[in-house]
Formats: sequence, C-alpha cells, structure tokens
Amino acid sequence: MTNSSPAPLSASSISIQKTDSPKPLVPNSQLLFGKTFTDHMLAIRWTHEGGWQTPEIKPYGNISLDPAALVLHYGLECFEGMKAYKGKNGEIRLFRPEMNLKRMNLSAKRLTLPAFDEAEFLKCIEQLLKIEERWIPQEKGYSLYLRPTFIATQPSLGVTSSNEALLYVICCPVGPYYPTGFKAVSLYATREYVRAWPGGTGNMKLGGNYAPGLVAQKLAADNECQQNLWIFGEEDKITEVGTMNLFVHLKTKEGETVLISPPLDGTILPGVTRYSILDLARQWDEFKVLEREITMHEVCEAVQEGRVIEMFGAGTACIVSPIKKILYDGKHIDIPLDPNNSEAQAGPLATRFFETILDIQGGDVKSEWSHVV
Ligand code: PMP
Repeated sequence: MTNSSPAPLSASSISIQKTDSPKPLVPNSQLLFGKTFTDHMLAIRWTHEGGWQTPEIKPYGNISLDPAALVLHYGLECFEGMKAYKGKNGEIRLFRPEMNLKRMNLSAKRLTLPAFDEAEFLKCIEQLLKIEERWIPQEKGYSLYLRPTFIATQPSLGVTSSNEALLYVICCPVGPYYPTGFKAVSLYATREYVRAWPGGTGNMKLGGNYAPGLVAQKLAADNECQQNLWIFGEEDKITEVGTMNLFVHLKTKEGETVLISPPLDGTILPGVTRYSILDLARQWDEFKVLEREITMHEVCEAVQEGRVIEMFGAGTACIVSPIKKILYDGKHIDIPLDPNNSEAQAGPLATRFFETILDIQGGDVKSEWSHVV
C-alpha cells in the first residue's frame, strides 16, 4: 500500500555533503555585515504532492530557479534573522530561536506557503551550526548571523499559491554593530512614505516589506539622518525606527516613569529583542512598562517639558540603537542620552539592556532564553 499523505519536515533523514574546498576564515576585524558567507547551507524542498523532502546540508552555492518562479514576480518570500554565539566554554548558543521560527511560520502563512515543523527545522539548523562551528566567532559581541529564507519556486506568471517551495538557511559571521562603542543615531520622521498599515503585512517578515523602505532610507540620508522614523496616521503615531522596534523612556505629566513601546496592532514587527526588553523591564520592576500608542506630539511635548529620559531602537543586529535627534517637520528635536555624561552616545537604560542581553546571548548569565546547541 502506498502512503499518499505529504511528508512532514523531518530532521532525522538529513543528508550531509561537506565541501572539499573550505574557505579561509575572515579575521574578525575585517568582517562586514552580511558580506562573508560560510562553507555550507541548509536547503529543504517542498512540493504540494510530496510534502517536505530530505533536508540537505551542502556546500554554499548558487540556487537555480525557473525565470518564471513565483518569488521573482510576486515576492512570495519571507525570511528571518537570528544569531548563533560561542560562549567562553565553547558551547554554541542560539537566542530564543523558537520565536524566530514561530514568526517565520506566521509570515509563510500570510503568503500561503506551507507550514513547517519548527522543532524539526531547529534540529536541522543545529546540525548546520555544528558543521559550521569554526565560523562562529568566540570574541564577545561577534556572532554567526543566520538567515532562514523561504521562497516560492513554482514557475507561474499567474498570481497563485505555490505548489513548490524552498526553505534554506545561509550563515554569515558578523561583528558588533558599533565596533567602537555605541553611536547614537539621528532620525528623519518619514511623512512621505508609510511602512505598514492596518490589515497589511507590517507584522510579518516578508521580503516585500523591505524594498519599499529603501527610498525612505535614502530620504533620511539626504536629510543627513542615519535612519528613518516610521510614523503613521493623522496623529503621527510613532511605529518603528528603520528596521527596529522603538522604545521611549519618559516621565509622564503625572510624574510616573514609564517605558513605552508601540503595541502589536498589526503594523509593528513583533521583534524578539522587543519581547526581551519588555520581559526584562517587567522583571526589573523599576518603572511602568507600557505597550501603547505614542505620537510625535507626545514626544515633542515631553522633550520640551524635559520629561523624555531616553529613546532607542531595538533589533537583532544591534540589540539597541540609541537615538539622539529627530528631524520632524523641518525641526530638529534633541533627545537626551545621558544626563550625567555629555559625551555619552547611549543612555544608562539602553546600555543596561544591551549588556544584559549580550551576557545572556553569550552564556555569561544563565537564562532559559539561551538555547545550547
Ligand atoms: N522591525 C523590523 C521592521 C525588522 O525588520 C526587525 C528585524 N527583524 C525588527 C523590528 C527587530 O526584530 P528582531 O528583534 O526580531 O530582530
């Protein structure tokens, strides 16, 4: 009897083909983000009839696609960004990887790409990491960035759900975002373009969300700002910073100290770093933690009244990115960094989140968030 039900993704059948020409490692000091790739990649094909095929770890290399592949025409693609770390004792660690894989399945669902078993996919990633171990830098602040990617490969010039897909993972060794210490950024509050809207896809990590952001990034650069600040709606609600979640630490008019991050209303990417910062702040229990809307008007007023303490972005690449200035409607708004140090490039709260998360990621501080491979 034949079993015709499509196969689930299974790590136990993984096939491993090692490269015969390993590349030389790049010295840490020469690493540029996303430019150096390791020796191997993980690739898993899916077809509607057969389901998930044998996961393959194979030499890093080009993939071949039909020029009519759906991904190339209608953007049926989603991805993730996560990091592997090597701690002092040489153990390989991932930071809350289950959150990335869950988010990836949600992104895939929005594109009608098939669901995968997150635990089995994680086992395949772990195998890849063991093979690529020599590429995981041990120096603090360095890591191996992983890019899980999911593409629709069916050749079709009709907009349709794909009956074939490829899930793959590539890896890049990366250095600290700010090699010489924090550099607080200036932001251009973008009125001209919108990143995400209710009912849209801003809460997912679809490739199609990012290309339209380049023009906003260019506009920020043309205005001598490093990043753009995404605002939304008639009230100019603050949503995200470039490709990071946003945090505002302020004193309310009533004198209460709060940490605010915009709520997950469908326009905000639910960042793993965002969750971690909110969780840590709630554990510390030193000020109120709020997931609520915040407008440019509220920030401007609080700055004028001396109530803003710090603002920062948060994401996997940099952990936290302090904010020093916002260009809004032609006016420069100065955001405080550290009241006790006029030279500082980061405030005490941003620095504390940065150091706490870095210590957990490297295994210097024990935490269930750090997943040993
Ligand atoms: N917002 C956007 C739009 C992003 O692309 C990212 C990076 N994935 C983030 C926020 C931060 O998410 P995370 O903390 O999971 O990296």
